[in-house]
Amino acid sequence: MSNLNEVGERDAWRCWLCDEPVDPDASVNSDRGPSVDLGAAGKSKKPAAGSERLAHRACNTRKGAVTPVVPWSPDLFVVDPAPIVPTVERLGRKRGREVVARCPSRADADQAAAWLVDRLSRLAPDLAVTTDVEPGGGQFLLVLRTA
Ligand SMILES: [Zn+2]
Repeated sequence: MSNLNEVGERDAWRCWLCDEPVDPDASVNSDRGPSVDLGAAGKSKKPAAGSERLAHRACNTRKGAVTPVVPWSPDLFVVDPAPIVPTVERLGRKRGREVVARCPSRADADQAAAWLVDRLSRLAPDLAVTTDVEPGGGQFLLVLRTA
């Protein structure tokens, strides 16, 4: 399983889906054990070199054949948060900007923006994004924009 070790080292033994640590010594048959996910490349085409990502076996299995689900932190105050993975895939393809959440206050929006940028630095390290916070409709819009 040298590929697993390579991918694990590169991802610093952190699951790309749930952002929790992965124990490299756990059994590959246990739910919390390490597994290699094909990452954003999807299952239909041959994965590009380097697109494999480290995931817990359970996280990898749970995502199944549909789009992987990356949860927003429960500590954030966000309204209507966009699904993270499809948004990242769209921005990677088309570039541009997307409103990804609304927040009740600017402080909440700033906190969500900081969390999102940190999260994306591991989830989608090749996608250079910045965030903007814009007032709108009595709330604050969190905007993700490609560099
Ligand atoms: Zn996980």
